[in-house]
Amino acid sequence: MDVVIIGGGITGTVLAYLLDMRGVHVTLVDAGLQKPRYPLIHSKLLRFREDIALSKISEEVYLELSSKLGIKVLQPMYSITVIPSECYGDTAKLINLWHEASARVKVINDIGRYGLKRVVNNEVYILSSGGDNLVDYVQLMRLIRKRNNVRYVECKAGINVNNDSIEVVVNGRTLHGDYYIITAGAWNSMVARGAGLRIPLLPYKCQAAAFLSRRINYILYDYVLGIYMRPLGSAIDRVLGLSGLSIVVGGDGNSKITEPGREEKVDREFLNEVSSKVRSRLGNALFIGSRFGYCEVTPDMRPVVGTMGMNNLVLMGGFDGYGAEVGPALALALTEYLLNGSWPDYAKPYLIDRFGNNWPSTWDIGTEAHELCV
Ligand SMILES: Cc1cc2nc3c(=O)[nH]c(=O)nc-3n(C[C@H](O)[C@H](O)[C@H](O)COP(=O)(O)OP(=O)(O)OC[C@H]3O[C@@H](n4cnc5c(N)ncnc54)[C@H](O)[C@@H]3O)c2cc1C
Repeated sequence: MDVVIIGGGITGTVLAYLLDMRGVHVTLVDAGLQKPRYPLIHSKLLRFREDIALSKISEEVYLELSSKLGIKVLQPMYSITVIPSECYGDTAKLINLWHEASARVKVINDIGRYGLKRVVNNEVYILSSGGDNLVDYVQLMRLIRKRNNVRYVECKAGINVNNDSIEVVVNGRTLHGDYYIITAGAWNSMVARGAGLRIPLLPYKCQAAAFLSRRINYILYDYVLGIYMRPLGSAIDRVLGLSGLSIVVGGDGNSKITEPGREEKVDREFLNEVSSKVRSRLGNALFIGSRFGYCEVTPDMRPVVGTMGMNNLVLMGGFDGYGAEVGPALALALTEYLLNGSWPDYAKPYLIDRFGNNWPSTWDIGTEAHELCV
């Protein structure tokens, strides 16, 4: 079987590996429009039961990748989740699901021990181990693109759909396959539009800022302030750690619908807001840089996978801010579909059929699916 994958980001990369491992000939085309520069968060402490199941399966995929590629894809992390007390009832119900996903979770009081400050009176702090990781996508992408059997093409691809036939065009050349997979992230809707297809996805701008601060060796999900913080997780961070310092990356779930290519820089309001919130939780923090990229959402803020009219054209996307958490599991489901012709149960809530043909041309972006206390 020959499969052409358009988009070698987080999900396209893992999909290429999973198919290659099963003897499929893979052509992976990537335009180099978005690259992770530091490890990404993988968390099982999510809000929906089906997402938690995907995140657990993704963790297993990462562990398989680690052993087969001989690298350490996952760096296990502690996490602290800060919630307002009024949200504890809902969160307590989730804690049982997190335990089932092998996270160990307990409420703590002394956050000063972790270098954190109390911001308002009614905060609850949940410490977790076994629930979170940082994923080394930088190395993963480099290795999978270099695999002998994966034909990696660095170029922008377009699709032509004529009656019942599909072709992928790269640099004026046509690529043929038994299946064509669109995993072009925030560019999915542009790729589909180029082929005259309509899909239930909108792109938006995702932003993050980095600070030099006192050392933190855990991920902080702060639902009182509405931000997350995590150590950069790279070699430089480990060196700084020896002097009690960290590079901390912070961001929020705020989102702004915009097509890739239209934005030039990180928003000033975002920087002001994140800087002041990071400082109110950590104390001194020196702003050292920021970056933005693009994410995408479906109308219900959950990922989507499935065939698009023709059986051999498949879309996988809509991962908003949690593609490293749930993406590999859907890549595994898609692998099973291509090889066996049916979707595993865990993928069924994400099938594109749930939208029928009836989604709006635009919609408001709600809370990202991985966020709590909504
Ligand atoms: C600053 C920032 C921080 C983030 N942090 C996290 C995190 O910690 N954890 C987490 O789970 N998620 C995080 N996310 C979200 C995460 O990046 C997305 O959920 C994820 O990248 C979606 O994966 P994807 O494979 O669908 O798309 P992408 O990873 O965006 O990959 C799409 C790929 O398609 C390629 N492409 C586009 N058009 C074409 C074309 N025409 N031809 C060929 N190739 C094409 C692009 O070059 C790109 O490589 C973050 C996002 C940003 C911007």
